Amino acid sequence: MAMVKDPVCGMEFDSSQAEAQTVYKGKAYFFCSEECRRTFEENPKEFVGDSSSPAGASADIMPPVRQS
Ligand SMILES: [Zn+2]
Repeated sequence: MAMVKDPVCGMEFDSSQAEAQTVYKGKAYFFCSEECRRTFEENPKEFVGDSSSPAGASADIMPPVRQS
């Protein structure tokens, strides 16, 4: 069991509950819906924050969410 985050809408859920998933650059991404997956696949760079692109840094400054 592992919590994952939908990179498109930001929703967090358990990977076993993902409605869709894809692999990009060797990493698995999980989505709440097929629609989010499609959005991601149309422009994955916009969501994964490629390290060569400073524009994708915003996701990194969010503090980790702890579930108690
Ligand atoms: Zn989503």
